[in-house]
Amino acid sequence: MNPAKSQGTALITGASSGIGAVYAQRLASRGFNLLLVARDQRRLDESASKLHTEHGVQVEVLKADLTQKDDVLKLEQRLRTDSSISLLVNNAGMAADGLLANADTDQLERMIQLNITAVTRLASAAAAGFAKAGRGTIINIGSVVALFPERFNATYSASKAYVLSLTQSLNAELQGTGVTVQAVLPGVTRTEIWERSGIDASQIPADMVMEAGEMVDAALSGLDQGELITIPSLPDAADWEAFVAARHVMAPNLSKSKAATRYK
Ligand code: NAP
Repeated sequence: MNPAKSQGTALITGASSGIGAVYAQRLASRGFNLLLVARDQRRLDESASKLHTEHGVQVEVLKADLTQKDDVLKLEQRLRTDSSISLLVNNAGMAADGLLANADTDQLERMIQLNITAVTRLASAAAAGFAKAGRGTIINIGSVVALFPERFNATYSASKAYVLSLTQSLNAELQGTGVTVQAVLPGVTRTEIWERSGIDASQIPADMVMEAGEMVDAALSGLDQGELITIPSLPDAADWEAFVAARHVMAPNLSKSKAATRYK
């Protein structure tokens, strides 16, 4: 059997560098055909030809700027109509540095378009297409800063908290459809994102920085183990489970007809 045929096509956004480029390599080695998306056509073409030669899978390149609505719409349309696509890696993202009060708010808006709007529109299209097919996987790349917003740029952290929340809701919505959902929350990972956002990563202690290959391998292991949320460096999964359990403890009291006594 041709493994590429059995796995379908993986659409990876932000596949031209860093984490997305590693996903492309790992998913090709798992027998997925690839649809690689980013703005840098030359890098995507180089990667496509290498992955086709090394793994014998079909690789298509689609140049798109996911801060631009027309480009996102084209991808959405493709996800809704191309039944060969069985996996979406919602990975393209950008970071920012500095205080909200001093921010270039146009740049923040572009980040929101990329990290939130495009992720949402593509997840929606994939959820529709995959649920119809009764199979498929949506991987959303979040960040551990979703859990620690005081430690990093406000808008970036909030965008990644959005990705976490979206994934948790989407997972609940897709129960019983045959569609798998995962959010990956990487810690600091050695990629171009730091340089691109003007952050000097050399100041970050080496024992906090993971190589992109190790990060993606852990994320795919988490996916294979059926995890909804994967935090690659977290030694004890029980810590995450306790965090979720604390939320469930509050659940019965989050919406009541009367205000709590301390507010009276
Ligand atoms: P990266 O090396 O800078 O890769 C970002 C990718 O997104 C590139 O392929 C880039 O390609 C693409 N991209 C950027 N702007 C785009 C746009 N407007 N339209 C389409 N594609 C665009 O960074 P990375 O670290 O691998 O980031 C991947 C994901 O991991 C992001 O969502 C990031 O927030 C997340 N993450 C990273 C870290 C970390 O420490 N590195 C930690 C937690 C989470 P082009 O320039 O060719 O368009």
